[in-house]
Amino acid sequence: MPGAAETRGGGDQRLQVGNVETGGQRGANDERESLVNDRRRGTKYEITPKVDEVASIHAFMNDFDCKALDPSVVGKACVESAEAFYTQHVRLWLDRDPVLAKSEVRDTGGGLHTILRLDEPILVAAGEARIWDDIARGICNALPGDPNLNGLIALTRPVGAMNTKYDPPREVRLLRPGEPVTRAEILDLSRQVAEQPARLWMRLFFGGERAEPCPFCGGESLGVAGYWQVRCYKCGRVNAASLVYRFYSPQFLDECKEGRHG
Ligand SMILES: [Zn+2]
Repeated sequence: MPGAAETRGGGDQRLQVGNVETGGQRGANDERESLVNDRRRGTKYEITPKVDEVASIHAFMNDFDCKALDPSVVGKACVESAEAFYTQHVRLWLDRDPVLAKSEVRDTGGGLHTILRLDEPILVAAGEARIWDDIARGICNALPGDPNLNGLIALTRPVGAMNTKYDPPREVRLLRPGEPVTRAEILDLSRQVAEQPARLWMRLFFGGERAEPCPFCGGESLGVAGYWQVRCYKCGRVNAASLVYRFYSPQFLDECKEGRHG
């Protein structure tokens, strides 16, 4: 459906922001579920609002693509199975944070959607949608999800819907039911990502402020060394973001740099 973006109006901007796959691609017309406004279901062309059109937020999501993962870090099974990735890694990461532990998790066929559902919707005042969009994007940085995810207007796939990107199609399955979170919990998580990223990532990935052995060199141990840095005697000081980037495959990181990933 090459004309779909134009008929919606404002589609050009959205396509640039999120680098959404173009129409006509396999699975492009699958049923999706919005987490804002009236939580519509339909194709992404039908239900994606512009950021400035968001008046209420019901949930925040993250999106993990198994194909983006480095098998030498997560294990080969996790690149081939979203459920294996959940069981072997994501479940442990979520359980190490009191807010992320309340995530709902869906196996979408080729990856995972984690959803933090609000106990009551956040009503977005005029002009505040961009602020909440930054918060939505910020909390995604807690874990190695898709860096091109669409922030506030990202769409999930309904449980039971079919993902036709695959042949045969795969059914979207609920792996973890989740619990409601408060607006204050969302803001707290957002603050930790912004203000204490090294500490947060060490806790999520290793359960504390120290990892033994060091995940980068395999020797010694790695510890928090400042809010944006970690340190190992052999590796020296390392940008803490490497704790997240190490999960992505080299090919995926190259695609991100070239802006080809969608
Ligand atoms: Zn090291």
